[in-house]
Amino acid sequence: MKIVMLGAPGAGKGTQAKMIAAKYSIPHISTGDIFRANIKNGTELGKKAKEYMDQGLLVPDELTVDLVIDRLSRDDCGRGYILDGFPRTIPQAEALDAALTKRGEKLDYAVNVDVPDASIVARMSGRRACTGCGATYHIEHNPSKKGEFCEVCGEPLVLRDDDKPETVQKRLTVYHDQTQPLIEYYSGQKILKTVDGTQDMNDVFAAITGILEA
Ligand code: ADP
Ligand code: AMP
Repeated sequence: MKIVMLGAPGAGKGTQAKMIAAKYSIPHISTGDIFRANIKNGTELGKKAKEYMDQGLLVPDELTVDLVIDRLSRDDCGRGYILDGFPRTIPQAEALDAALTKRGEKLDYAVNVDVPDASIVARMSGRRACTGCGATYHIEHNPSKKGEFCEVCGEPLVLRDDDKPETVQKRLTVYHDQTQPLIEYYSGQKILKTVDGTQDMNDVFAAITGILEA
């Protein structure tokens, strides 16, 4: 099963992708997580990506596409995968399609988690991310049982630099300009499925598994 998650920043793509990956035993591949791991490890890629991420801009396609295509050729992707945060531009989607076609493969679903902009800013200001393992929480909707520390690895939780309200506004503008056109792109391929992302996260999950198991 090869799935792409679509939706605005903060729509709940990562939350759902982790649950889907666990249920179907497929890897969850998040470009945001890959960039943040590179930033934490001080790599050249991390230094370059941070310049864009801190401004709420997309990391250029040249730094992003090969990274993902390489990742998809690893053995753990044999039974499929769930892509979260990639593709984010039409050229990225075309590059992904070209790489899949070359291997005689194709995507099964593009799941669009639909949340209006008005709800996004509030959600993002409540998001807390683990500095150790990248797990995400929400101070109201999904708090950590260990307070300011991660339930999984015990490291401190922080508000991501790019989740500050002024950066979130910029990311939303970038989303509408560059990423939203993917909805039409995958609709044209007849693999688009839209779910209402304003529901409780377990109800969103039930809607997605209903689609995947239909
Ligand atoms: P994305 O990966 O799309 O940027 P996340 O999955 O990190 O978004 O979710 C953004 C924030 O909203 C997180 O703090 C998360 O815990 C919270 N969240 C996710 N899904 C829901 C939901 N259905 N209802 C309320 N809050 C949610
Ligand atoms: P995310 O964790 O998915 O919200 O991504 C955080 C940030 O990483 C984004 O705001 C972008 O700056 C960058 N990023 C993640 N995925 C991509 C991508 N596919 N293309 C370009 N930039 C990306």
